[in-house]
Amino acid sequence: MLDRELQRYCSSITRDIELPRPFSARALCAELSTQRDRRIYLHPHEAVGVGTDAPCGAWIATAQADHIFFEQRTSKYHQEQIILHEIGHVLCGHGLHDVFETLLSGPGVLDNRVAVRGALLRTSYTTQQEKEAELVATMLLGRSTSWDGDGAQTGERYLGKVLGFI
Ligand SMILES: [Zn+2]
Repeated sequence: MLDRELQRYCSSITRDIELPRPFSARALCAELSTQRDRRIYLHPHEAVGVGTDAPCGAWIATAQADHIFFEQRTSKYHQEQIILHEIGHVLCGHGLHDVFETLLSGPGVLDNRVAVRGALLRTSYTTQQEKEAELVATMLLGRSTSWDGDGAQTGERYLGKVLGFI
């Protein structure tokens, strides 16, 4: 997909979404839960023992709801970025992984750190999907008129930087 097509595609994804005011990733999740009639649950997570290349967030979809895991040992701003990126995957409807259904088939399994870590490690999207998620996140952020995060710090924008958007 050419950059222009990518822009057009992501724009079509984000265009009709009503953004909460004041804007935050958490408020957006609540808003999307209502707009999509499908709950989004946020789960702070510590990616203990996971390499530095591992994703800081993960999205797990079950038949009932979407679950977004985000690294909590980072600034609030970075947490918001991680959540927005995962929302990007949700909104783009990126491929789900069968492993998640297996991992989530038991009761209370979301509290199971091993299962969550396994899910995080197995999160594997294509480069194109990562670009789409990141651009959707960037567009949502760009459309927001106010921001209640802690403010960006150099080095915290690495997801976007790696993908060439920042
Ligand atoms: Zn991603």
